[in-house]
Formats: sequence, C-alpha cells, structure tokens
Amino acid sequence: MKLTLTHEEYLYSLNSHKVDKVFCKEWYGAKNSEGYGTTTYKGKIIYAHRLAWIKKNGDIPKGMYICHKCDNPSCYNINHLFLGTPKDNCQDKVKKGRNQNGYNYKNIKDNLFYFN
Ligand SMILES: [Zn+2]
Repeated sequence: MKLTLTHEEYLYSLNSHKVDKVFCKEWYGAKNSEGYGTTTYKGKIIYAHRLAWIKKNGDIPKGMYICHKCDNPSCYNINHLFLGTPKDNCQDKVKKGRNQNGYNYKNIKDNLFYFN
C-alpha cells in the first residue's frame, strides 16, 4: 500500500465515484499527532481535508476553518467537510448532533478505498 498520494491521484480521488457521500474517506498519508492528514501543497504543509476543500471549492477565506461533520480527523471526504468560523467549535458542533444532514458518521467509517 502506498502511503502518500500524488496530487494527480488526489484530484482523481476527489472526482471519482469512489468518494461516497456517507462513508469516510480515510487519509493514508502522513498524519499529525491529532490524526489530521497532512500533505504538501504549493510548497507548504497543509491538512489533507483543507486541500480537499480547496480543490473542490477554491481558496479557504482567511481565518476560516474546515470542519468535519463526521468528527474523524483523518477523513477528507469533501461531503463530510464544512466551512466554519473560528468561533465555531467544530468538534463540539458535531458531538451535539447539529451537523447539517443528520448522518451519524461516527459508526460508519470505511476502510475500503486504498490507492495501490
Ligand atoms: Zn468523514
């Protein structure tokens, strides 16, 4: 199993039917101590989920956060991410069940989508 994705593979995965709306897409590359996927983009280290957002939606407004509906830091499924303000406590929001569509993502983590 390959541990890091090239940006081409990364882009492919974002546009692929494999990106499920329900299941988490686990990052198999580098992770930080909190479990957030990390990669490099334009010469800088960036969180994988932030890069996923950028690839899909364009630049993240300054000072804004990309939060997980699924409360899974290593997930970069674009469908599980939302833009939050610094005032939003993303984790708290998820734990209180105020996510946007009511899925309970926590129990349906998925490990099927490897890049070989
Ligand atoms: Zn997820």
